[in-house]
Amino acid sequence: MRWTPAVLHRERHGRVQCLLCPFRCALKDGETGLCGVRRRSGGRLETATFASSVRHWDTLERKPLFHYRPGTPCLTLAAPGCTFACDYCINHRMSQYGREDSVRWDAEPVDPEDVAAEAAARAGCVAISYTEPSLAIELTAALAESGRPLGVDVVWKSNGFLTPEAVDLAARHVAAVNIDVKTLDERDHRELTGARPGPVLDTLAGLRERGVWVEVSTPLIPGLTAGPGTLRPIARALAALDPAIPWHLVRATPAHRRTGHAPTPVADLAAGVRIGHEAGLRHVYVERALGADGRATRCAGCRTTVVARDVWALGENILDDGRCPRCGTVTEGRW
Ligand code: SF4
Repeated sequence: MRWTPAVLHRERHGRVQCLLCPFRCALKDGETGLCGVRRRSGGRLETATFASSVRHWDTLERKPLFHYRPGTPCLTLAAPGCTFACDYCINHRMSQYGREDSVRWDAEPVDPEDVAAEAAARAGCVAISYTEPSLAIELTAALAESGRPLGVDVVWKSNGFLTPEAVDLAARHVAAVNIDVKTLDERDHRELTGARPGPVLDTLAGLRERGVWVEVSTPLIPGLTAGPGTLRPIARALAALDPAIPWHLVRATPAHRRTGHAPTPVADLAAGVRIGHEAGLRHVYVERALGADGRATRCAGCRTTVVARDVWALGENILDDGRCPRCGTVTEGRW
């Protein structure tokens, strides 16, 4: 494990304050932040996240990003650590490093130029996923700088728990992001993640304003977030921001501290799709449980299927520069 200099911090009343996430930890010398992967050493802040637990090829559809360069392969990395502590996390053996004693460090340093070159060789992009990528903002910036001359974009799958300062910085380096919006209920969100929900929507709006392509996922956790009481407020909030935001409803499978629980019933996912459409959202997706229909993009004008998908992969994209070949309606995205 290697600690390297971190960005986004300031001196405040004799402490070094981290400005990356809304916890804004004010650290004494030698202290580590709540995330467990950023620490103070003397007058500077350091991070352990210039490293990755995985390095493998994947698809953008798997992040999921459906309206961003469909079918593009992505080289996926995951720097250990997270600002949330969700009890259903399927990646807890990476994400909860520094927060749970049972999780061991298992990551290798990353050479950004090497990663960018590998991605460029397949005309792909680089994704940071599985853990919280904003904690690896320094690695993200380095990957983006190495990738830019080669046409390699960096994308994130994020919990959206960022400060405005971090949103500003991320927007300079991240081309697209899928943000998890788990619930807007203050108490439920705190219980589920250990953090408040407000910054998540602010991040979503802030990244969009700065030109980053944003899609949203909501995990439907039975008994917690799978019902209309959770889904309707999220759908309305997204539709108020922009009805074209793609919304992915994710089937929860039992993991981590919820291994005794059942997966999300298919009926709840189908009800979620109806809720999204009733709220005015144009594109509501369910990856597998509703078959090919659940993951197809339909033209908002004439309902023609303009992008068909296989499981976690592109099937056929008949959009012509983003327009429906039948009626000419634009489907929003980066095609
Ligand atoms: S990123 Fe880590 S150290 Fe920084 S404010 Fe958040 S929890 Fe604290």
